Amino acid sequence: MHNYDAWLHWTFNNSCNLNCSYCFSHIKLQEKPGRLKGPALFSRINLFGRRNKRSCVIDIPALKNTLARAGGVFNISFTGGGEPFLIPNVVQACLEITRKHYVGFNTNLVCKKVREFACKVNPEKVVFFHASLHIKELERLGLTGQYIDNFYLFRKHGFNIDASEVGYPPLLDEADRYRSFFKENGIELRFDPFFGEYEGRQYPGSYTQEELEIFNINIDTHYRKGKLCNAGYNIGVVLEEDGNISPCIFIRERIGNIYGRINFRDKLIRCPLDFCACPLSICDPYLFKKAIEESGGVRKFNSGRTYLFEVQAQLENKFTTSVKSFSQWSLESQGDLPPQVQHAQLAFKDGRYQECLKGIEGFLSTNPALDSRQKALCYIGLASCLVEESQRASVLKQNYLNRAKAYFEDAAKELKSEDPLNISICSGLGYIYLQLKDEDRAAFYLKKGLQYPLDKYQKELIDIYTNLGCLCFRQGAFRQGVKYSLSSLKHTP
Ligand code: SF4
Ligand code: SF4
Repeated sequence: MHNYDAWLHWTFNNSCNLNCSYCFSHIKLQEKPGRLKGPALFSRINLFGRRNKRSCVIDIPALKNTLARAGGVFNISFTGGGEPFLIPNVVQACLEITRKHYVGFNTNLVCKKVREFACKVNPEKVVFFHASLHIKELERLGLTGQYIDNFYLFRKHGFNIDASEVGYPPLLDEADRYRSFFKENGIELRFDPFFGEYEGRQYPGSYTQEELEIFNINIDTHYRKGKLCNAGYNIGVVLEEDGNISPCIFIRERIGNIYGRINFRDKLIRCPLDFCACPLSICDPYLFKKAIEESGGVRKFNSGRTYLFEVQAQLENKFTTSVKSFSQWSLESQGDLPPQVQHAQLAFKDGRYQECLKGIEGFLSTNPALDSRQKALCYIGLASCLVEESQRASVLKQNYLNRAKAYFEDAAKELKSEDPLNISICSGLGYIYLQLKDEDRAAFYLKKGLQYPLDKYQKELIDIYTNLGCLCFRQGAFRQGVKYSLSSLKHTP
């Protein structure tokens, strides 16, 4: 476990040994950021100034003085606009920094110095080593083999290394082929969203659902307006050539200098931007949690405090509930159901939701004369699959939720009012309305669910209390929120 108090995210220079077509550093400032919103804003900002500035060296004694003055333990990560292993004294600086602190890297892994780093620096002092895999550029320069060799070297030495490529639209047709190629070479390849313009379209907003699925990327977490962030509280970015530190790349208020003093804020902020390419609270959940606990979040409470902070942090970070939804359906009334539906329940239990959906739909179409309860069970199964799928989807999320809502409503029509299956329906509808931001209806269904004799239905009870707790927090009814959240804890086995 890495134990540090603060993180400095240092974009030291803009020089690079590669020349990727999608590189941020190619983008020029074309419009004033204030007029742009969402992903377009990010793609128009020249975050890192002109490329190919001279790579000067790190002033190691001055850096050590700054860290000593600030106190605590730091994670210093070298990342952003250029290749950090072009800094002439980067290995020496890391050897000094890691005597007390930690380091991290975003690198293209094909500079000579990376091998020296792997052999000299203690891997336990390296929080992360993100090896960006710029496939087309490596192929163009004949460097793919070198990347793979270096990756193995870092793994052999015990570094926490991973590989990611940019989900650039021209790579769509080859994404699977590249995944398989690197997998055969022992490397799990991940795709990250592309931020920028391609063929007149702004990304990541222009990805279709199918494209998001091909790259297996989720952009929902980048919409941050109004959410709590610890940028500037225990995280700072060092962007300027003169070493000035800002809370994040978008908020350029000066909070110190890497060769001077660091004046972290004493409160968390709510993100002023619609869209953030690099939400720092999500990049480092450990520091975000620490910040929430130390600062007391938005308010302080007298009771249930630790748990409340957990819930609050979760809400602020995701702005959604985290119900592991409706797994109880896979256990429901197994003895009463025909083998096809039991088979679908197994698929559901394993997370194969599309297979489960097809199984139930096939069963319903070939067996129209079911009794009402069996039909209701099938509808609840379909709705549960759609809710699960909605959690993975971004563009089609609302569509999945609306279809799930309709199935839950159909199921309710088939059931007698005293049937305990209604509890699942209330819990499901409450959750869906919460997601759809219809809080009045969410509260109606969740409270209706509590009217049933729930003792035997612990899973549903926990879902209902958790959802009600989240709803209250969202509405600012904190005392009620604490009450419901603690009730959910009480019923957790
Ligand atoms: S390796 Fe990174 S910094 Fe260098 S050109 Fe490619 S995207 Fe830009
Ligand atoms: S989410 Fe955090 S890091 Fe991103 S723009 Fe907002 S305040 Fe800055």
